Amino acid sequence: MTNHSVACLFCKIADKENEAKIIAENDRAVAFLDINPAASGHTLIVPRRHSSGIGEMEEEDVLGVFRLAKEVVAKLAEKLGAEGFTIGINHGKIAGQGVDHFHLHIIPRFAGDGGGSLHTIVKSPFKADVSEIYEKIIE
Ligand code: AMP
Ligand code: ZN
Repeated sequence: MTNHSVACLFCKIADKENEAKIIAENDRAVAFLDINPAASGHTLIVPRRHSSGIGEMEEEDVLGVFRLAKEVVAKLAEKLGAEGFTIGINHGKIAGQGVDHFHLHIIPRFAGDGGGSLHTIVKSPFKADVSEIYEKIIE
């Protein structure tokens, strides 16, 4: 897998040049424990091929990442007793993306952990006219 970005931390982890706690991998993607976990078992899944966002990823990379997500979710449920998961991507700087290499967060959830749902993250103060927005998107 080429298109390695020499300066990129997650490329180095995927290439095993930098140490990380890799818990699963396939030909397209690598899953490793987040160094600053939001919960026990917080895992990041990255495509081996460098991409900032999903728009630049090959279809096979997208598939590889989500195949691995399925595997990781099963593993974390079994090994750590995770009862649910918050799965998300900080996609783009404005959304909080700190590392410029696409990564899917898999955050295990446990009863009483005090966390919220994805809806607690984005609360833009606007009144959505869903029909108007729909028209804009599909025109
Ligand atoms: P984001 O804010 O979505 O870009 O998330 C980047 C994540 O990468 C954060 O949760 C960091 O804790 C994590 N992180 C940064 N450096 C490393 C590293 N060397 N190994 C594992 N996780 C890392
Ligand atoms: Zn990279």
